[in-house]
Amino acid sequence: MPSYGYRPELSEGALKCPIFQTSTFVFESAEAGKAFFELAYGLREPGPGESIGLIYSRLNNPDLEVLEDRLALWDEAESCAVFVSGMAAISTTAIALLQPGELVLFSEPLYGGTDYFLSKVLAKLGIRTVGFPAGCSGDEMEAVLEASGRADALRLIFVETPANPTNALVDIEACVALARRRSSTGRPVLVAVDNTFLGPLWQHPLKHGADLVLYSATKYIGGHSDVIAGACMGSLALMQEIRAMRTFLGTCCDPWTGWLLMRSLETLKLRMTSQMKNARYVADFLADHPKVERVYYLGRLAEGDPGHAVYKKQCLAPGGMLSFDLVGGEAEAFRLLNALQLVKLAVSLGGTESLAEHPASMTHSDIPRESRLRMGIGDAMVRLSVGVEHPEDINADLAQALERV
Ligand SMILES: *Cc1c(COP(=O)(O)O)cnc(C)c1O
Repeated sequence: MPSYGYRPELSEGALKCPIFQTSTFVFESAEAGKAFFELAYGLREPGPGESIGLIYSRLNNPDLEVLEDRLALWDEAESCAVFVSGMAAISTTAIALLQPGELVLFSEPLYGGTDYFLSKVLAKLGIRTVGFPAGCSGDEMEAVLEASGRADALRLIFVETPANPTNALVDIEACVALARRRSSTGRPVLVAVDNTFLGPLWQHPLKHGADLVLYSATKYIGGHSDVIAGACMGSLALMQEIRAMRTFLGTCCDPWTGWLLMRSLETLKLRMTSQMKNARYVADFLADHPKVERVYYLGRLAEGDPGHAVYKKQCLAPGGMLSFDLVGGEAEAFRLLNALQLVKLAVSLGGTESLAEHPASMTHSDIPRESRLRMGIGDAMVRLSVGVEHPEDINADLAQALERV
């Protein structure tokens, strides 16, 4: 994996892929330049073994191509494209695939930026959206779709699982079955999964029939809280459409960020495994604490929990994200957050350092209070992204902060 997709002989024998910090590439001949553009603009089909040559870094760049090949391996995707941010991956994909008048069915809650983009920005383009609660059954999803009165216009089912910050699970296979039932020849309904929380290690939506997997690579893939980036992967045909839209929206990742992400990928498994083990330890500690009302962690789902069967079916491990409700409300949550020392008070997640935040007043403050409570995001909830620190240090910090509550 650390050498996959890179050939040292093409770069003076350098063991590691250099940073190709260049905006443009010199063509060997005018004929070569012409051939590259014919493929890039889809003017003709590629010949046997022919691929688009390097043209300009808004279209392609060696660092990004190697990174994309490596990311595609994790999800066993045919093709991958990287973007300047997770939001750029989501917005470029949506604009590439959707037409005015079409409908998007999505799981709730979604990442705040995605929610805003789907409901406010797509509305301006004449694309309608309707949400269903994460954790509901396939029949309930279908009922929401029917109730929208626009089921015939369905084109995309967009889900985020586990849901942020409650860890409620969306059944990917149920979404795929619904999409297949609603597809007509020549007009398939697609399923896209934002896999930022568990992927690419612990959940592989393509294996469950999803068409596209999306990432905020800012989170676990980057993993050091120092870059903003995104990715989308799926079949060659779909990715060609999305990659073309990336060229015209100009949402491609830059070579330096691509290089940093390649470096991050080398420790992805080590980091995510350590974070998952730590999270288990922290979740057990919190669950036993008298000032904690409830812990939301996939590693603690009881047999009878509605999410348990879905977890068994589509998740390989519980990951490093958890939330908990304190006994009390916002005041208690704030006292805890203000008293933390090792764990930093910040949004974002998936980095090597543990981060805590208050969803109700921060990441999910845009959701009207009533809907927020319906989604299970209460005023006493704290979300924790567990890092790679010594787990006893994390628990000691939480213990001293809980003392002050
Ligand atoms: C952070 C995040 C995004 C947005 O990604 P950016 O890299 O911040 O643009 C999308 N989805 C989820 C689940 C996220 O956590």
